[in-house]
Amino acid sequence: MVSKMMTEAADMLTKADRCDRCGAQAYVRVVMPKGGQLFFCRHHSKEFSPKLRQLAVTIQDESGKATLEPDRVYNDVLELDE
Ligand SMILES: [Zn+2]
Repeated sequence: MVSKMMTEAADMLTKADRCDRCGAQAYVRVVMPKGGQLFFCRHHSKEFSPKLRQLAVTIQDESGKATLEPDRVYNDVLELDE
């Protein structure tokens, strides 16, 4: 039998995947021990990365392919952090 979880974990992130914190396009998928998934944009993946590395089972980081995408959304969102 094919493991569905393995297949899903290997999926690439798409534009439909959105940061759980700000709604920007997600480039990092974090799989938690209980099976839940979190999605983060580059900004928030960096912000939470120390904690995520302690908690997460898998961190799928595709931020390297995002270099051409302007971070327009951040301007509207940063105020939430400050
Ligand atoms: Zn974000």
